[in-house]
Amino acid sequence: MRLSNRIESVEESGTVKFTPLIQKLKQEGREIISFAVGEPEYDTPAPVIEATKHALDAQKTKYGPVSGIPELRAALAKQFYGYDADNIIISNGSKHSLYSLFQVLCDPGDEVIISKPCWTSFPQQVKLAGGVPVLIETINNQLDCEGIEKAITPKTKAILLNSPNNPTGAVYPKEDMERIARLSSRYDLYIVSDEAYDIFVYDGIDYKSFFAFEDVRDRAIITKSFSKTYSMTGFRIGYIAASKAIVNAVAKCQGHATGNVCSFAQYGALAALSLDERILSQWRAELERKREIAYAYISKLFDCIKPQGAFYLFPNVSKYLKDGKTSEDFAADLLERAGVAVVPGETFGTPNHIRISYAVPEDILKKGLEKIAEVL
Ligand code: GLU
Repeated sequence: MRLSNRIESVEESGTVKFTPLIQKLKQEGREIISFAVGEPEYDTPAPVIEATKHALDAQKTKYGPVSGIPELRAALAKQFYGYDADNIIISNGSKHSLYSLFQVLCDPGDEVIISKPCWTSFPQQVKLAGGVPVLIETINNQLDCEGIEKAITPKTKAILLNSPNNPTGAVYPKEDMERIARLSSRYDLYIVSDEAYDIFVYDGIDYKSFFAFEDVRDRAIITKSFSKTYSMTGFRIGYIAASKAIVNAVAKCQGHATGNVCSFAQYGALAALSLDERILSQWRAELERKREIAYAYISKLFDCIKPQGAFYLFPNVSKYLKDGKTSEDFAADLLERAGVAVVPGETFGTPNHIRISYAVPEDILKKGLEKIAEVL
C-alpha cells in the first residue's frame, strides 16, 4: 500500500525531532546540554498559569468559536492600527497559522519565494499545500532583493519574510522591507511575514513589522505567536493578523482541521497580554547578554555573523568538516563527544552550518560552549 506522493515528498521537522532524542539520552543517564530546539528557558509567568487554572475551574472546557474567543481576538487587534477582532484568527501556534495559510493561498504549482537559510517547516508546508517553495540564498544572512525579484514568475503567489530570522537571527532593515513591499504591489503578490521573534531585537535597532507598510496592508499577512514572546510554547497559541478575506478563508480551513484552539489555554493567552511589560524587557535584556556570551565563544571557533535578534547563532562550521563530513555528522559528533545538541544546517537548507539556541540558563550556556570548544 502506498502513501500519498505529497507526504512522501515532505521531510520530517528537523527541529522538533531532537526533543524525544534528548529525552531518551537523558533517561539513559547521559548528561546532555541542549542548544537544539528554540524555546525560552523561562517559566510561563504566574498570571498566565493562574488565568488558565481559573478558566478550567470555570469550565472553559467546551468547544468555542473556530477563530478564537472574541476577547482575545479583540485584544490582539489593538496592536494593528485599523484592525478589529475580525482581522485576527487564533491558531494552534504560528506553525498551524502558516500551515493553514499556504493551504489557503496555493493552488497546485503556485510558487512561494522563501529566503534561505530558513525555518525547516516553511518549504515543507508549501509542499503540503501543493505549492512549490522557491528558495533564494541570502547574502550575509540578509535578503537578496534583486534575486527575489528575478525569481518572480506568473506562478508566484507570495513572498515569505521572517525577521528576526530563525535560524540566523538576522533582522531585515526597513529599506529591504520597503523593496519587498514595492515588489508585492508591482507583481500582485501576498507577503507572509512570520514575526514570532519580534520582541527579541537587540542593539536598540528600530525593528519594523511588515504591517508598518500601509500602502500594501491588503497584501500583508502577519503571523505571530505566544510561544516565544511569553514563554508559552506548550500552550500552542499563535495568530494571524490579515485582511478579513484571508482570516475568513483560514477559518474555513481551520474549521475542518482542528476547530477552536484549546479553550482554557486561550484565557491564559489573554492574561499574557496584560503582563507587566518589564518582564518582557527583562527577558530581552537577558537574552541580549547571552547573545554576547555565546557570540564571544562561537566567533573564536567558527565564522559567524553576529545576529541582531531571535535567540540563535548560525555559525559556518566548514573548517571542521574534513573527509567529506557534513554538518549533520558534525552535530552527531558534538552530541556524542561533548554531550551538546545543536541543529545541523541541512535542516534549514544550508549545509556546513549549525544552529545554536542560546535561550538557556547562563551557567548551562557557558558549560555547553566550553564543552564544544574542548572537543574541537
Ligand atoms: N520554532 C522552534 C525551533 O525552530 C521550535 C521547533 C519548531 O517548531 O520547529 O526550534
